[in-house]
Amino acid sequence: MVPQAPGYLRPQQTAPLTADQEAAIAATCPGLIQDVTANGRPDPVLWGPYREMMTGWATDPEVRFAGASGGALSAMLTHLLDSGTVDGAIQIGADPDLPIGNRVVLTETRDGVLAAAGSRYAPSAPLADLSERLADHTATGRRFAFVGKPCDAAALAALRHRDPKVAAAMPVIVSFFCAGVPSYQGGEAVLAALGTDLDQTAAFRFRGNGWPGRATATAHDGTERSMTYHDSWGKVLSKHVQHRCKICADGTGVAADIVCADAWESDAAGYPLFEEAPGVSLILARTDLGARLVADARDAGRIETEAFDPATLVAIQPGQRERRRALWARLTALRLLGRPVPRYRGLQLWAAARQNPLGRNVKNFLGTLRRALRARPSSTGVPK
Ligand SMILES: Cc1cc2nc3c(=O)[nH]c(=O)nc-3n(C[C@H](O)[C@H](O)[C@H](O)COP(=O)(O)OP(=O)(O)OC[C@H]3O[C@@H](n4cnc5c(N)ncnc54)[C@H](O)[C@@H]3O)c2cc1C
Repeated sequence: MVPQAPGYLRPQQTAPLTADQEAAIAATCPGLIQDVTANGRPDPVLWGPYREMMTGWATDPEVRFAGASGGALSAMLTHLLDSGTVDGAIQIGADPDLPIGNRVVLTETRDGVLAAAGSRYAPSAPLADLSERLADHTATGRRFAFVGKPCDAAALAALRHRDPKVAAAMPVIVSFFCAGVPSYQGGEAVLAALGTDLDQTAAFRFRGNGWPGRATATAHDGTERSMTYHDSWGKVLSKHVQHRCKICADGTGVAADIVCADAWESDAAGYPLFEEAPGVSLILARTDLGARLVADARDAGRIETEAFDPATLVAIQPGQRERRRALWARLTALRLLGRPVPRYRGLQLWAAARQNPLGRNVKNFLGTLRRALRARPSSTGVPK
């Protein structure tokens, strides 16, 4: 995976592919296909299949503070490591060579998990080291929990389905709600808004250290500049999200065993508030395995949980709600123009579109058509 302007990670082919490899990519790449089966689980139109939904947070105060929301995701990983369910966790952490970038880290202890806690709104390729982890499993029997964006989780789940070796090596998939990946240019724009740049920056946190926590740039002399989540994500980073994420049908990690998100407090109108508060994660156990692991972590005292009314989700996740409802119209416009779109199965896109009034669907359709016609198609036919 290599960065390409304006700073997104793209796969680079380094050798010819065998027919088997081509077939594996065609069946598992979430840019091409995503297939979801509820198998009797509740399957709400906007949120996908799940077993249990609750709020929760890490009981370890350091983890709760460092986490993007309540640190529940990190607490789950710590539990999986301490209970011997897995030997390591494949995660994303800050890239020491590019403070606004990411690298894959293999964590084996609570401190390693703590260091990787917090959301990083920049390109990530957590499956990049998969073959090394598989080789490690073959040689030593070690097993790994995997943390990735919903698209990463979908790719790994599809690969597990095809290959029992992958399933044995990666028994647990953890994900989070994802509104899309901004480019490095987005990260640089946050630095510019803070009155600094990459050369002056030794470390950068997108959020966490509080809920939601401030985007914080630390200079080489240790001084810090920061801005609120509302300003960094809402006014800068969200404007740099890539095209593929705008036509994503799975912002909620439907292929994962466990998914965490922000359980925002809402105002009287139900709109999310981004005031600093002790962190609370939304926790979805999507599979039976996920439900058992969350219950185990609670019994072990790693997380505390509270009941959550799934009906409130539609108000506190407006980004996910709107993208999902707009998708059918957007994809229809792109298909009409012969532009490539992923094949989504079981994601209830038409049912989601019907939650919008007709006028909104028409507006989304025309808006996508106009933007796609105006944009210069890249060599892949995808608008830039
Ligand atoms: C690009 C992006 C978009 C998001 N959009 C939404 C959204 O629309 N709605 C919402 O509720 N939440 C969204 N989140 C998730 C949210 O910020 C929290 O991650 C989630 O609430 C879980 O919080 P936590 O405290 O339980 O997790 P933590 O304990 O902080 O753990 C976070 C985990 O995510 C991993 N991680 C961080 N950044 C990345 C990355 N770029 N790629 C892969 N793994 C990563 C870390 O390694 C860590 O394991 C987004 C996160 C990202 C990275």
